[in-house]
Amino acid sequence: MGIRVDTEKCTGCGTCVAACPFTLIEVIDEKAYINEGCTLCGICQQMCEYAAITIEEAEEVVPASDSHRGIWVFAEQRDSQIKSVTYELLSRGRELADTLRTELSAICLGHNVGEIEELIAYGADKVYLVDDAALDNQEDLYTAELARLIQEYKPEIVIAGATSLGRSFIPRVASILKTGLTADCTDLEIDTEKRLLLQTRPAFGGNIMATIICQTQRPQMATVRPRVFKKNTPNGNKKGEIIKVDFNKEGVTSKTRLLSFVADLADRIKIEDADIIVAGGRGLGKAENFQLLKELAAAIGAALGSSRPPVDDGWIPYSHQVGQTGKTVRPRLYIACGISGSVQHLAGMQTSETIVAINNDPEAPIFEIATYGIVGDLFKVVPMLTKELKQ
Ligand SMILES: Cc1cc2nc3c(=O)[nH]c(=O)nc-3n(C[C@H](O)[C@H](O)[C@H](O)COP(=O)(O)OP(=O)(O)OC[C@H]3O[C@@H](n4cnc5c(N)ncnc54)[C@H](O)[C@@H]3O)c2cc1C
Repeated sequence: MGIRVDTEKCTGCGTCVAACPFTLIEVIDEKAYINEGCTLCGICQQMCEYAAITIEEAEEVVPASDSHRGIWVFAEQRDSQIKSVTYELLSRGRELADTLRTELSAICLGHNVGEIEELIAYGADKVYLVDDAALDNQEDLYTAELARLIQEYKPEIVIAGATSLGRSFIPRVASILKTGLTADCTDLEIDTEKRLLLQTRPAFGGNIMATIICQTQRPQMATVRPRVFKKNTPNGNKKGEIIKVDFNKEGVTSKTRLLSFVADLADRIKIEDADIIVAGGRGLGKAENFQLLKELAAAIGAALGSSRPPVDDGWIPYSHQVGQTGKTVRPRLYIACGISGSVQHLAGMQTSETIVAINNDPEAPIFEIATYGIVGDLFKVVPMLTKELKQ
């Protein structure tokens, strides 16, 4: 695959120079010249009105192995409790497996793991369970074990949560298996004809949504943030098989020792789990003004969210940030105060059930996705709202 400029067609107009997000194009002697480092994003090709730029497609490649079948969801747990993201992934995984007419399995590693039947109720046909005292809070041992099991059972797709655990060890598994991994996906679909996992995620600073495929290697691997997919209602009557697998201890030693586990107690209500979120943006003006939102949040039992600028300016800790580089939330009610509605912010909250936007600019993009919009000064509107809600 490469990019080519047809010098017969190129007029040296410079449109591509302005369009290139990486400033890799220059016009030399009235012809466009594309420098090394081109990512083949295709923007220059789209912008060229003389059709002088072509990206040569890679030859159709067949998957390296046709012997891989089935979808695996990594069932993350801690202290015997399965993490909610696992159920979200199983719910989506079920739909993907049905589309591919294949099995859905959960793979769970740990010690004294509970809620195994729940994995079946949420859609798994099989659960591979590696329960061993050596795996108790020794997550650094997961990498080799998961890679070994994937090599043995050969699933065609492996999905995990983009949690701190998933983000740290799933790339290592992909690296051992020499396969591709798309991190932080916001959607997963199937190309049934080619049995490909279509992995969508924001790219180029969130300005475009890229759909990524892994054509040749298996399994196809992706991580998805918590709350991106909706949990289905569990079906307690669903039948499934639990396969106990022995942990392969051979040559495995942990390089870490868990001294203690300290829960983040900084906030009473975590935004990822909150039903209602009151979020503030740059429109608040300064750190002290978050007090207004705290009062509103307290009146309705909401968690406090933020866009990125207040976090960057140190008005509020990062754990409150919603968006592409913050948390993905899906509350019943999201109240956005003084937030303009950039794509990067929307990426983290647009699936909220009801969105209320308070902004003094009637043209603010947040109003395009808001269920209810209040055009006004937040310093007047928020106290009025708090007063009414308290009553
Ligand atoms: C790679 C990358 C990742 C990013 N990740 C994130 C992310 O995770 N989350 C995120 O939020 N951003 C993220 N951003 C930043 C994003 O592009 C925007 O800059 C940011 O979301 C804007 O925040 P804001 O809406 O609070 O501020 P602004 O865009 O400045 O908007 C402030 C709004 O407040 C309104 N306002 C001002 N005063 C008042 C008042 N008195 N009453 C009512 N309204 C008022 C204004 O009309 C305006 O609409 C990212 C950017 C990049 C490049």
